[in-house]
Amino acid sequence: MLKELTEINGVSGDEDRIRNFIKEKIHKYADEIIEDDYGNLVVRKGKVKKTKILLAAHMDEVGMMITGIEKNGLLKFKTIGLRTQSILAKRVLIGEKKIPGIIGHKPVHLLHSQEKSKVPEVRELFIDIGASSKEEAEKIIQIGDMATFDTKFTRNGDLLFGKAFDNRLGCFILIELISKTDIPAYYAFTVQEELGLRGARVVSFRINPDVAIAVDTTASGEFPEKKDLPMYPAIGKGPALTIADASILCDRNLLELFERTAQKYRIPYQHKQPMVGGTDAGVMHLTRDGVPAMVISTPARYIHSPISIASIHDIKNSIKLLSLGLEQILKESKWN
Ligand code: ZN
Repeated sequence: MLKELTEINGVSGDEDRIRNFIKEKIHKYADEIIEDDYGNLVVRKGKVKKTKILLAAHMDEVGMMITGIEKNGLLKFKTIGLRTQSILAKRVLIGEKKIPGIIGHKPVHLLHSQEKSKVPEVRELFIDIGASSKEEAEKIIQIGDMATFDTKFTRNGDLLFGKAFDNRLGCFILIELISKTDIPAYYAFTVQEELGLRGARVVSFRINPDVAIAVDTTASGEFPEKKDLPMYPAIGKGPALTIADASILCDRNLLELFERTAQKYRIPYQHKQPMVGGTDAGVMHLTRDGVPAMVISTPARYIHSPISIASIHDIKNSIKLLSLGLEQILKESKWN
């Protein structure tokens, strides 16, 4: 299922396909399915009695939006969550019909000497679909079409290679919790996280939870050349628990509960580098009069690029830690 989940194209604002796929997978396990006008999908599982837990995984992935078509048929675009260094010369698929294209760039032969050391800006790049004129391109492309990378999912032993790991890994974890456990909670698949945590804001207002947990993917910190940043989290060393990121200071009691649970059941875990990044928890904890919230993430190398690497063990351990941690929350009366 991870192959299908990650190969579906669903850039922010274009989550219909991924939402339909998830709905198909979970509908028989759900006691209630809510699809709001904003595009979020929320599943209630079981009778949510005292403690209302809301888990959120965003469905959207990074990508590009087509913003213009040149006279010569080349497409101009804007990026969502990407930097130019990682997208040059990559294959992309555009829109509902998956029109193939490549991100064009000047070959080395044509670069001026001062251009050789410079990273081009997005406005200097284009997507080439092989059209010879604006009219030809307009027959199959519309301004506003979304594009993402043409990356196939592969597996090598315990390691997974593919696109959109941020955050289809989180979606997979929630689908597994819904289909294989009986923990009463609201499980939300949110939209437009990469544009500023937008969908989760709407969901959290509707559900009004007692506890909120974002289930996401985080950047592996395995870059030895980075001077002032520690080299964690790393793939294969367990789910990453957030102490604080740029959007939230996580609830210390919740964090402690998950650390305690991991230690008790000997589940490996690590911390995310504090104060960087942001997740749906950043808006969920600000709902109404405030909500205790935290984040549990699967580390992956090279997120927000055409391809990432993650470990199957981290995904399995995230599922294990979440299910045991959620049960513990439901046992403790202080979260009511
Ligand atoms: Zn994410």
